[in-house]
Amino acid sequence: MIEIIAFDGDDTLWHEAPLFQSSVMKFKGILAGYHENDRVHDILSDKAVNNLKHFGYGVKGFTLSLIETALDVTEDRIPAAKIRNILELGKEMMNAPINLLDGVKETVDLLSRTYKLILLTKGDLFHQEAKVTRSGLGDYFQQLEIVAKKDDHIYERILNKYGVAAGQFLMVGNSVPSDILPALEVGAYAAHIPYHLEWAHEKAQDEDRLKLPEHQRYFLLDNLRSLPEVLNQISVLS
Ligand SMILES: [Mg+2]
Repeated sequence: MIEIIAFDGDDTLWHEAPLFQSSVMKFKGILAGYHENDRVHDILSDKAVNNLKHFGYGVKGFTLSLIETALDVTEDRIPAAKIRNILELGKEMMNAPINLLDGVKETVDLLSRTYKLILLTKGDLFHQEAKVTRSGLGDYFQQLEIVAKKDDHIYERILNKYGVAAGQFLMVGNSVPSDILPALEVGAYAAHIPYHLEWAHEKAQDEDRLKLPEHQRYFLLDNLRSLPEVLNQISVLS
């Protein structure tokens, strides 16, 4: 029987990727007229991935990647006032309203009556805590676990910390490499709810994606509303 359900936050409980997408459009607008590079999007994507090792996940690191990209594509000719515009864009992202995905509030409310819920998310502590508060979901979660990455060691650590066996733990998330594979790896259950936008570095390898459906502890959902049904199935199985 499941005792703990851990939820990913970004693009699982609330929309996040569209915020980045619209910020990239605004960023291109800020740079317009200062360069002739038509690969800004690709340069920024590479920069953002490479900078993860320096700044970690989240909007603050992304804002620094925007500034670095602006300097690179304009060969350092970007005016200081434009750098200020980019910083404002970063602050706008930090303070953007939280839009929950369909069915989240009702489902989390329902499940919190039976299970211990935790939020297990990557990113920046300050921003993720603020987002949880603004989401209105804070009271449903008994604990927030904000981690730099989600690998099998992290899942082992969480299982040990909460004193549960892997078979009593269900991870719910949109990312195959972060939320699904490492949870399955340690023997936990995983409910995968794909999001329509996907980061290049969060994309599953084709071979991994093909193997997923064979996994007994893997469940593919199109909406969080189906999660109570998954829990019924697991209780029948176990
Ligand atoms: Mg996510």
